[in-house]
Amino acid sequence: MIVILKPGATDEQIDHVIERVEQLGYSAHLSRGSYRTIIGVIGDEESLRSEPLQALPGVADVIPVLPPYKLVSREGHAESSVVQVGSVPVGGGSLGMIAGPCAVESEERMVRIARRVRQAGANILRGGAFKPRTSPYSFQGLGKQGLEFLRTAGDEVGMPVVTEVTDPRLVEVVDEYSDMLQVGARNMQNFVLLREVGQTAKPVLLKRGMSATVTEWLMSAEYIASQGNSKIVLCERGIRGFDSATRNVFDVAAIPLARQLTHLPVIADPSHATGRPDLIPACALAALAAGADGVHVEVHDMPEEARSDGAQALVPEQYEELFGQMARIAELMGREIPAAGV
Ligand code: PEP
Ligand code: MN
Repeated sequence: MIVILKPGATDEQIDHVIERVEQLGYSAHLSRGSYRTIIGVIGDEESLRSEPLQALPGVADVIPVLPPYKLVSREGHAESSVVQVGSVPVGGGSLGMIAGPCAVESEERMVRIARRVRQAGANILRGGAFKPRTSPYSFQGLGKQGLEFLRTAGDEVGMPVVTEVTDPRLVEVVDEYSDMLQVGARNMQNFVLLREVGQTAKPVLLKRGMSATVTEWLMSAEYIASQGNSKIVLCERGIRGFDSATRNVFDVAAIPLARQLTHLPVIADPSHATGRPDLIPACALAALAAGADGVHVEVHDMPEEARSDGAQALVPEQYEELFGQMARIAELMGREIPAAGV
């Protein structure tokens, strides 16, 4: 931690800061410049963060040296982590290609879509059973029955499944039926939920909140990791902008940035980022070119009948075509697309 003193800080104030730092069990290194005086504080920065050094008289600013997310930070863990989803490795050169409908609607439809995305090359199946909807009157998902249909479809085609858990009270049942727990954008800072999924042994797909900074996103991952579960895959899914031409603003730069800052895999969701089937392919390819460890796409065989997010769904033929293009970018990037497998 570096304590920067105000230009007019008196010797008494400087001595008082040093005294306080030493009282707390840290060592202080004073450095007097011609314009500014700074004090380097050496010791465990984590516990020092909660000390209000900023409130001491004469202090202008307190600057931490380390990122606040020590478990997920790449600083302490240079090698990229690989998160195993069923038998599919995600990260470290392996791409997690997630596809499926926004919501699970029926067993037949779930199995039908699963077959198509599996055939196209996807290796993880998605489908929401508990849907976080903006309106309480919109379809809320099939609940437990949806989990059963998703599990059946995954087992039938041999794909691991990911589904969203919206409430800490549902973690147990979602854990029972799925291979990966999704924490959605709206719940990225539901700290009770983050702790709860952190206490499971399942990998977690952590979407970026729609107005979350990259630091806040990584802090949410830290919450999960702090409970003992470091099997986390981050997912950039677009952030709020001012232009309604696209559903969100696809923050492609956040992908390489997050990959610099954390050892965890980072994937992209161009479906929720753009909300437009005509823009999804270009953004999916851009994400892979930017280094993403996977791509998450919503696919529906009959978008006009979809009970949620039909307007942004790719039909299986479009996904197939996109997959061929994604595979070519993956090859250019030196990435593998592992086969599906539970
Ligand atoms: C979803 O995956 O269907 C979803 C609701 O995503 P997000 O949380 O990114 O909006
Ligand atoms: Mn959706």
